[in-house]
Amino acid sequence: MREDCLFCKIINQQIPTKLIYEDETVIAFNDINPQAPVHALIVPREHIDTINNLENENLAGHMILTAKRLSGVLGIQQSGYRLIMNCNEDGGQTVFHIHLHLLGGKQLGELVQ
Ligand code: AMP
Ligand code: ZN
Repeated sequence: MREDCLFCKIINQQIPTKLIYEDETVIAFNDINPQAPVHALIVPREHIDTINNLENENLAGHMILTAKRLSGVLGIQQSGYRLIMNCNEDGGQTVFHIHLHLLGGKQLGELVQ
């Protein structure tokens, strides 16, 4: 838990947020500024600032498999989706508590602009 971290505050319910999934390791909620009809964030309860400091392979795998399962719940598993993790400035990271974006519900554009 970091006092100044937005996603830690969501995890600790200091910022009320409707969760679409939670277990003992991760939570998921809809992005406040969706870039597609489905745009969810899968967030570990543990504070890790960037992928550069992610070492737990079980956690990394659990985040991806949670996204896959959520894609089914959210109705985009067969139509398709994209999973994104941004890292640091060039990657466009704005919240420094790692999170996996799950995007779908439309034909997504080019990955790199
Ligand atoms: P990134 O740019 O990869 O760090 O992604 C951060 C994401 O968090 C952005 O897509 C934001 O729209 C999203 N975001 C920021 N604040 C909130 C919030 N309070 N609830 C849900 N999503 C948020
Ligand atoms: Zn945090």
